Amino acid sequence: MSPTAGENILLKAEALSVYYGNALAVKDVYLEVPKNKIVAFIGPSGCGKSTILRCFNRMNDLINGCRVQGRITFHDQEITDRRVDAVELRSRIGMVFQKPNPFPKSIYENIAYGARINGYQGDMDELVEKSLRQAALWDEVKDKLKDSGLALSGGQQQRLCIARTVAVQPEVILMDEPCSALDPISTLAIEELMQTLKQQYTIIIVTHNMQQASRTSDYTAFFNARATEGGGKMGYLVEFDTTEKIFDSPDQEATADYVSGRFG
Ligand code: ADP
Repeated sequence: MSPTAGENILLKAEALSVYYGNALAVKDVYLEVPKNKIVAFIGPSGCGKSTILRCFNRMNDLINGCRVQGRITFHDQEITDRRVDAVELRSRIGMVFQKPNPFPKSIYENIAYGARINGYQGDMDELVEKSLRQAALWDEVKDKLKDSGLALSGGQQQRLCIARTVAVQPEVILMDEPCSALDPISTLAIEELMQTLKQQYTIIIVTHNMQQASRTSDYTAFFNARATEGGGKMGYLVEFDTTEKIFDSPDQEATADYVSGRFG
């Protein structure tokens, strides 16, 4: 039985392969992402986690020589189709990056800017407050909205980037190792925040941190890579299941080795 049986599937990847030039970086991935759940991507470095993540909002379009094969559907609409407007897609499937990257603008403008570009017509003060509240940052910044976003701590900057993402009112938030540059306390703050956000959004998170995957996610995809004849590496999906199953009783030995720290 499919691990996601009975779930409302929001995003689906089928026979997904990604090339950089002639090198096959990820091969033949099938994956279902249920609505209002957190899905974690884990696996050794270079197995294609970020590459797959970027497929979901067509960020790979921006990388020269990157070619995506297969199908990704979002609400049953094929988004790999070039006729789908990637900019519009990215407003529905937002992304938070490894390193917090606020704009060199005020805290207020960090949020208002993207919303304005996306055609937001409502009350901007209200949107700024609501987004900062959703990112659990409002109380810390409400008296200094005119200060630069860059003056905040790393953890606050990452929450500002999350606020900026939710201000556009996406349905999905892709997170590419969002805590790798943060201290343990800021990391826990982001993890707590994810639990609140999932009531409204669907989240996919790439993480190196196994405890983070097991603490935060509902489903986990374990990827691995094997050496190719050309001397490169090719990533593939080993196992996808509920996080509980992946961590407690995975089907594959490689998964068990990885989650228990016995890997390679
Ligand atoms: P992970 O996120 O699991 O560490 P990546 O998706 O970053 O893996 O990388 C998968 C493979 O694709 C690696 O072999 C990497 O070298 C290659 N790759 C990633 N990004 C690029 C790029 N922009 N150009 C060329 N090769 C890339």
